[in-house]
Amino acid sequence: MSFTVVIDAGHGGNDAGAIGHVLKLKEKDLNLCVAQRLADKIRQHYPDVNVVMTRTTDVFLPLQQRADIVNKNHADLFISIHTNAAENRKACGAETFILGTDRMEDNLDVAMRENAVMKLETDQTVYQGFDPNSIESYIIFELMQNQYMDNSLVFAELVQKQFVGTLQRANRGVRQAAFWVLLQSACPSVLVEMGFISNAEEEKWLASEAGKNGIVNGIFNAFENYYKR
Ligand SMILES: [Zn+2]
Repeated sequence: MSFTVVIDAGHGGNDAGAIGHVLKLKEKDLNLCVAQRLADKIRQHYPDVNVVMTRTTDVFLPLQQRADIVNKNHADLFISIHTNAAENRKACGAETFILGTDRMEDNLDVAMRENAVMKLETDQTVYQGFDPNSIESYIIFELMQNQYMDNSLVFAELVQKQFVGTLQRANRGVRQAAFWVLLQSACPSVLVEMGFISNAEEEKWLASEAGKNGIVNGIFNAFENYYKR
């Protein structure tokens, strides 16, 4: 059985995700660009690895469908690519998330923002009453069993090491948060917040070829280390 990695470009279509203030860079476009280049690079270097993308064009894709793709393909690793944003325009740096409830309250804002995508979907029934904007809803994350935590953490730390070491980004660390897309994915999974599109300097870096290729190479190196383990 070959190793399957699912690469998810967050957002898409009428869901732009976060938008930069200076260049008006859209999260959905940056996520897709990085995801596509990462997929290409893994395919190039590891033709035996089955690389699946959740989307390859600018389309809207429900949150649950992304996890369904992971599970249908019996993925061994799931990488969801996102870009951060904050009211505080000085906020900057990279953070890599795994599913978990350690200091969940601290990371509730980012989880709520990424989960709120489901509100744009026409069919809410798959979410079984989960309201991404209600703190009470997040109790389900406290109740879960996460058998993929150890391997998720191994990969997340490899990714974060690349952002901080090679790419010299501000280190916001490996964190735990309540992301629906990770909860529903039955394999080691991480959600990468590459940087803050809301920070003028970082938006410029994210938009640059050096920035994008640096991130692609970084996540690729992390994948290589994890895969070869
Ligand atoms: Zn996002």
